[in-house]
Amino acid sequence: MIITVHELAVTQGILDVTLDAANKAGARRIIAIDLVIGELSGMVDDSIQFYFDFLSRDTLAENAALRFRREPAIVGCWDCGGKFEASAPLSPVCPQCGGARLQVTGGREFRVESIEVAES
Ligand SMILES: [Zn+2]
Repeated sequence: MIITVHELAVTQGILDVTLDAANKAGARRIIAIDLVIGELSGMVDDSIQFYFDFLSRDTLAENAALRFRREPAIVGCWDCGGKFEASAPLSPVCPQCGGARLQVTGGREFRVESIEVAES
């Protein structure tokens, strides 16, 4: 098993945000967490789940389900003006015209989109 400090830190961040929101809402338990992961963020669902299970023990979020939504990157081509959805590994050239002047936007975000809680 490869341990990546980055994913551990990110997962701790998710947990902190989630517990904070749940406490403010007076929730008794967190049922599910919806996460948005950019295709290029390098995050692996399984790793996040693994760290989450470990970090959430004895918290309101213990046994919460993690639901992942992948968000594609958008590649824009300076040569033909085309825009394409892309996932890793990125093609170095435009799929439409073969141009190499590409601009990548999006696909690197990682955020908690919503949280489902139980109030009783
Ligand atoms: Zn192009």
